[in-house]
Amino acid sequence: MRHFHLDAGAYSIFSRLRTAVWIFDIDKGHVVWGNEASLEIWAADSLEELVSRDMGRDMSQSVAQRLAQYREDFITSDAVFSENWSLYPKGKPLTLRVIHSGVVLEDGRMAMLCEGMEKQSVDNETLRSAEALLHTKVMITLFADDGHALYRNPAARAVVSDIGETFPQHFVDSGVYEMLASELKQSGASRVVAAVNTKAEICWHEVAARFCYDAVTGNPATLVSEVDVTELKRTQERALHLTTHDVVTELYNRKYVMENFPRFLDLVREEKFEGALLLIDIDYFKYVNESVGHEKGERVLVEVANRLRSCMIDSQDQLARLGGDEFLVQTMDKDIDSRVRKLLKNVQEKFSRPFHVANRSIPITLSTGVVFFPKDGLDATTLMKRADLSVYHAKNHGRNRVSYYDPSFEMAGRADIFHDGALHAALENREFTIHLQPRVHVHSGRIVGAEALARWNSPRYGMVSPDVFISACEEFGLILELGAQMFELAAIEQKKYLRQGRPLTISVNISPYQLKDPGLVQTIEKIMNETGCSPNHLEFEITESAMPEDNETVTQAINAIQRMGFRFFIDDFGTGYSNLSHIQKYPFSGLKIDRSFVNVEAEQRKLAEMIVMMAQAMSYNTVAEGIETEEQLEWLRQREVDEYQGFFFSKPLDREKFAVLLRNEDAELNRQKLWQAS
Ligand code: C2E
Ligand code: MG
Ligand code: MG
Repeated sequence: MRHFHLDAGAYSIFSRLRTAVWIFDIDKGHVVWGNEASLEIWAADSLEELVSRDMGRDMSQSVAQRLAQYREDFITSDAVFSENWSLYPKGKPLTLRVIHSGVVLEDGRMAMLCEGMEKQSVDNETLRSAEALLHTKVMITLFADDGHALYRNPAARAVVSDIGETFPQHFVDSGVYEMLASELKQSGASRVVAAVNTKAEICWHEVAARFCYDAVTGNPATLVSEVDVTELKRTQERALHLTTHDVVTELYNRKYVMENFPRFLDLVREEKFEGALLLIDIDYFKYVNESVGHEKGERVLVEVANRLRSCMIDSQDQLARLGGDEFLVQTMDKDIDSRVRKLLKNVQEKFSRPFHVANRSIPITLSTGVVFFPKDGLDATTLMKRADLSVYHAKNHGRNRVSYYDPSFEMAGRADIFHDGALHAALENREFTIHLQPRVHVHSGRIVGAEALARWNSPRYGMVSPDVFISACEEFGLILELGAQMFELAAIEQKKYLRQGRPLTISVNISPYQLKDPGLVQTIEKIMNETGCSPNHLEFEITESAMPEDNETVTQAINAIQRMGFRFFIDDFGTGYSNLSHIQKYPFSGLKIDRSFVNVEAEQRKLAEMIVMMAQAMSYNTVAEGIETEEQLEWLRQREVDEYQGFFFSKPLDREKFAVLLRNEDAELNRQKLWQAS
């Protein structure tokens, strides 16, 4: 496009003209040149004086924007505009018809050539309305009947995606335009909120259109006014999104799942598919949350959600967060079994890597319950209840596993245990007991102690796993009471054997919640005094992954309890990926190597090897858990591990059976002694 360049010839012609002509430098907000007639209009004493005026200073923002827009239009389309302008030479308003066009300055920048035409004989009302049209933020366009624009006010021009854009092209969705056009035809006016094309992006405008006649030609035309409602629309969308989505993970929420359940089941039926629900619960999420803090706990949830999201196969799988640490996958397929298997395999793979939060590596495992539709239930309530029972079953059988619903799960209703105060009553009735699992000296093969493990044989639910009732007690704030009862039972046993002249070391598991209880030291002291147990023969085990980060209360409690003579062991060592500096802050006496490290093929015991070496280097007592074979025991012997526990020697036994085991061992020993003596 060829633009008009200023040169000496141009100046000389402009000088001779009777009409006022001046050149305005849009960037700098200054007139750079004007002819004699323009000096009069601007009431300037001289050209120098006019040129020295800083016109940008008093310019309103909308005028500045408009001028910048003009400059763009001069550059891109060599446009010419004609407008009624109110100038304020020396503060007095003066209305002119001004014609603006582009002119290139000597330095190559685009400026504006202004021609001031005779005063218009228009009334004040018209003047003001014209001025308002120029300044308003409402976008106003006059379209001819064929759809091309006859006029755009500055606000409309500022956003239009293309100066040649027609009315139909303005709409993103042609269907919306058709609707508007047909209503316009019928009633002469129409209004919609629509997605429209603009220079920057697709926006939402409230578009009001009205049939009219073009004032210049008298032809039928459409006057369109638009207001940008993008922000409002987005806020509305966000609000709507939040009613169906979870804020933390951006997944669908429980409300959405429940409301859409019937539709999901209908769809499965229509497609002649089968459906499945995978209810997924994070193991020990409470511990994670406690040990890394709630804010970082949320990050773990987001990461869990992301990993789960990446496990979905296609749009037939829908993932939601039901609340807390519970997620749900709804899915359907002709071959539902293989789809579920594939999903579960994906999940297993994605969760084999630990999570990194707060400079710690945290392993996350999941307990999953699976139900099928229609096999396991025909309605949302039944299916959800059965999925819940299946998760409960998975947790009750050691967590980190998948349980497919089976009618036998109905016996022990998790829902009951969690809601009807059953735990409270059980604690009151002292239904919790301990089983003792012998701790055996690796070298001598003698029983040197036992771990006290909580047991609940509920008259109503049968045997409930500690994995289930302990976290439930933690959830309901009953763990302090349970912990105290378990410690008391262990202390009584310890005292009993001490009195029999058989000093056994009994270890008791302790929950991190107990360690944070300011009354813990007092509770232990009281039970110690009442039972007369010997603190030197009692130990507390705390699961590694549940060990809180630096915590003043916890450190003080451990130190105080240790001063009384009790010792502390790290339980399930290796599963928490702790760094050693973290562990070293607490005065532990030893560690128990988690069974997952030794209870594997010999060639996979590299980690176990390392743990043993490290523990020995730090002069920790070492106890290996979960020893099930002679081969594993021999491995421990060679590495001089101090003690072991496991089914190979004995399962956890009730107090009576444990006593019998101990008596038998003593009897055997005595026999050997007698034999040796004779
Ligand atoms: P833990 O302290 O690591 O206890 C060892 C678990 O391994 C016990 O499961 C025990 O029965 C099992 N076990 C022992 N030897 C073998 C073996 O050779 N093979 C296999 N496969 N398993 C073996 P249990 O009794 O179900 O306890 C589970 C967890 O519940 C315990 O893990 C402990 O963290 C927690 N717990 C148990 N009693 C208490 C308690 O009184 N208070 C607290 N806070 N937690 C407890
Ligand atoms: Mg233990
Ligand atoms: Mg353990």
